[in-house]
Amino acid sequence: MRRGGWLAASFCLLCLLALLWPSGAKGENGTKETKRLAVVMADRVNVRQGPGVPYRPMANVRRGEVYRVVDVKDGWVKIEWENNRTGWMAEPYAVFVQSAEVVQENRLRLRQEPGAKARILGHLTQGETVWVIGEEGGWKKVVAEDAVGWVAASYLAPAENRSVSRSEGVVDADSLNVRAAPSLDAERIGRLLRGDRVKIVETKQDWHKIIARSGLAGWVAADYIGVESEKAAKNQEGAVDASVPPSVIRLGGPQSYVSRWTPGPVQPLAGKTIVLDAGHGGKDSGAQSVDGIKEKELTLETVKLLKNKLQSYGARVVLTRDGDDYVPLSARVTAARLYQADAFISLHYDSAADRQASGITVYYYDRLADYGLAQSFEQPFSQFVLLPFRGVAFGDYYVLRENERPSVLLELGYLSNPSDAGTVAGDGYREAVTTAMVHAVLRYFE
Ligand SMILES: [Zn+2]
Repeated sequence: MRRGGWLAASFCLLCLLALLWPSGAKGENGTKETKRLAVVMADRVNVRQGPGVPYRPMANVRRGEVYRVVDVKDGWVKIEWENNRTGWMAEPYAVFVQSAEVVQENRLRLRQEPGAKARILGHLTQGETVWVIGEEGGWKKVVAEDAVGWVAASYLAPAENRSVSRSEGVVDADSLNVRAAPSLDAERIGRLLRGDRVKIVETKQDWHKIIARSGLAGWVAADYIGVESEKAAKNQEGAVDASVPPSVIRLGGPQSYVSRWTPGPVQPLAGKTIVLDAGHGGKDSGAQSVDGIKEKELTLETVKLLKNKLQSYGARVVLTRDGDDYVPLSARVTAARLYQADAFISLHYDSAADRQASGITVYYYDRLADYGLAQSFEQPFSQFVLLPFRGVAFGDYYVLRENERPSVLLELGYLSNPSDAGTVAGDGYREAVTTAMVHAVLRYFE
């Protein structure tokens, strides 16, 4: 298990900021760009030798990383991605930084849109540094560790030489209730699983107030949280300092939550058969992003990861395909019947003519047989921060309509939307979204 991922993420951000932040409006390269830093907004983006797809990729950059911008041309941004080495990334995956600011209020609400009524995506911690990328009315659009959203501008102050401090912990129990207040009698508002990482923002007697990666915030019994001290975090800073080129600031990104899955000894899914259906395959590629990412590949990768996680909880998992094969819809449904599936989950990635369409949708067909399963995804996906949750909806899909077993079809983001596509292509997204799905399945069988 990697520890300190989050802290590594915010390691001495301000020291680097001091190095990077332009002191004047005009840069040393004579460029007229005043917007001098850009944040990468997708999990994995190619950096090419020139401004266009025909140019060979030289490296990858990742979500949340911040780079010095040296030129902007024809929809491409030239960045310095290593000491004095430059390359080009597609502009839709970059957003220009206006300023770096520090959060002045604990549990500052991060919202989906500017406005006090907009959906809350999560909470920011006092002292946390964020990148401001937009402004509207009294609101600022910010990039935090791994979330983007809007906060009330009055709770931000320009970053100066302040150190960022926070402690983090790892859940050390197979299942840990999150409560609304520091008491066993308080309402249960969510659950964490072994290995989940949390930020500890407050401690009261035997309780920690935590913020989970999903954005879930509440109180947990302190006994079940393995705390990493800030001292350990400082060591981590040193380690990262040596290995990261000085032009890169890692705010956090996929690497901070990749492969942290540790199965618990309990087997809450023992005796359950789950059929996982990777949408499309073979001659049927499904949807495709502008970048050439195919739906059939993403669904298969997602299904394989989900399979491992569900098996670690004792489930018997059957895949309708485990390679790039064309499998007719009828055969997929037959698998559910043959194996007497307790749940059939079909995974897809969406596409729409409207390139703005974004987020995750859960479809069911039968109000009686399927709705309960669909509903179990509601809470985990509502707390999901990487993409918005569009909700649970009726869907007349063959694999649901013809299915005798409880079945749902998940659309896990829009490949037609460049921002969604950049998000879903990353390992980090797959890790996070499969974890949310495991939570949903556990809820369903609870
Ligand atoms: Zn599909």
